[in-house]
Amino acid sequence: MITESPSVYNAYDFTAQVGKTASEMRKPAMFTDAPHEECGVFGIYAPGEDVARLTFFGLYALQHRGQESAGIAVSDGRTINTHKEMGLVAQIFDERSLRHLKGHLAIGHTRYSTTGSSHVINAQPFTMHTLLGPLAVGHNGNLTNAASLRRQLMERGVGLMTSSDSEVATMLLAGLEGANWDERIKGFTQCVEGAYCLTILTHDALYAVRDPWGLRPLCLGKLGANGWVVASESCALDTIGAEFVREVEPGEVLHIDMNGPKTIAHNPAPRSALCLFEYIYFARPDSELQGQLIHQVRMELGRQLVHEAPVDADLVVGVPDSALPAAIGYAQESGIPYGEGLIKNRYIGRTFIQPDQRLRQQGVALKLNPLRDMLAGKRVVLIDDSIVRGTTSGPIIKLLRKAGATEVHMRVSSPPIRHPCFMGVDMASYPELIAYNKSVEEIRQQIEADSLAYLSMDGLLRATGRDPQGFCGACFTGEYPFNVAEVGKEIFELTSG
Ligand code: AMP
Repeated sequence: MITESPSVYNAYDFTAQVGKTASEMRKPAMFTDAPHEECGVFGIYAPGEDVARLTFFGLYALQHRGQESAGIAVSDGRTINTHKEMGLVAQIFDERSLRHLKGHLAIGHTRYSTTGSSHVINAQPFTMHTLLGPLAVGHNGNLTNAASLRRQLMERGVGLMTSSDSEVATMLLAGLEGANWDERIKGFTQCVEGAYCLTILTHDALYAVRDPWGLRPLCLGKLGANGWVVASESCALDTIGAEFVREVEPGEVLHIDMNGPKTIAHNPAPRSALCLFEYIYFARPDSELQGQLIHQVRMELGRQLVHEAPVDADLVVGVPDSALPAAIGYAQESGIPYGEGLIKNRYIGRTFIQPDQRLRQQGVALKLNPLRDMLAGKRVVLIDDSIVRGTTSGPIIKLLRKAGATEVHMRVSSPPIRHPCFMGVDMASYPELIAYNKSVEEIRQQIEADSLAYLSMDGLLRATGRDPQGFCGACFTGEYPFNVAEVGKEIFELTSG
């Protein structure tokens, strides 16, 4: 049996909407969100524990991976109960809703969407009844063959309610042949292509599935004597007091039940292709990836940048929060003092109150405020982790100049983003990427910086300290780990329409 308690709100995301045109903001989620699935997934098998509460705190730690909607599905061994809504984790769940989620195994999901109004219909976990009993699925990533899988499902008479490839994944799992879930999930991994980290809940087992390239992160932890946890990032394990055991391997399917975790399939691709953007921007700085603290790697990105693009200046300022470690690294290596020049409203994010037109024109000022005393009369090195569309850099530079900075030299701790991501990071389409058809000098002129330099691909790979062959850097190089022709065409149609 499955029960669900979703409600619908129209939420407004300040950070996502700043710099967007009114028509971009009005685009219905149906037509804009399909190719973008930056999400956080969590799963727990822990008899005797309040698994819904633990999942809540796990999702709370993974909030940065998605602020559009969140949900928790819990099984008590017979029934799966689900609660999902639009909004932030802390807005969605309260003692009352958690009380209804009783059981000993659970999955949770936080979802990110890029533009426009969105709908609870896309919120996850997706749940359904099947011949093998109830099923709930949480997905992070992008299936690059979702369009043909969709068509195949429809040809078999399956109706789909959303444009989300996560629904395609769920329907596929429900409809595949196989006498048990182990067989079906193994069969599933043979049909799908692209980036996926899945947590799957059946009435009596938790599954964790990572794509053969290991594009998105997923780790396994232990909780107390009998509990097991999987999460997109290790920070979620720390938050609930679980111990990090290992990463789920690329191409691995883990089945977790009362006997603990068991690998039921392991089919890695010829090489792994962990997303470099996880290191640069996406993952939380206190998470570990491939045995390295993200914060350390980001500091190293800043240090590398000094060797490639030194500058004579008085103060290093990072764009909060994601560029602060790189700014600290840049300051340490260059000897230029580090200072907080920009203060971010910590609570900015999703709100149910829309800013009016005048406030919208305030742009980045809604979220960042300069510290005038720090900046007045200074030649500033401004560090950001990335320039994507190029909508925030110009206004931030203006803000610094208005606060008294005499020069602003922008340094970016990643290479120019010239290609869209088809594997789950919101990188927009070719025409939206500022570096797609502009030189560094043209970008400098557009954002009105005194100088601009990006980190090189070599510098980026060096900073990770890991095998350079083990990453996906397609957004920088255009070298996708697998054929993305199908999803490329789909994105083009969606964004040019
Ligand atoms: P843009 O203004 O489009 O160039 O965006 C660059 C800024 O957005 C940088 O400060 C990044 O830290 C941040 N950023 C980079 N990637 C993303 C993403 N996928 N979603 C939201 N923000 C991002």
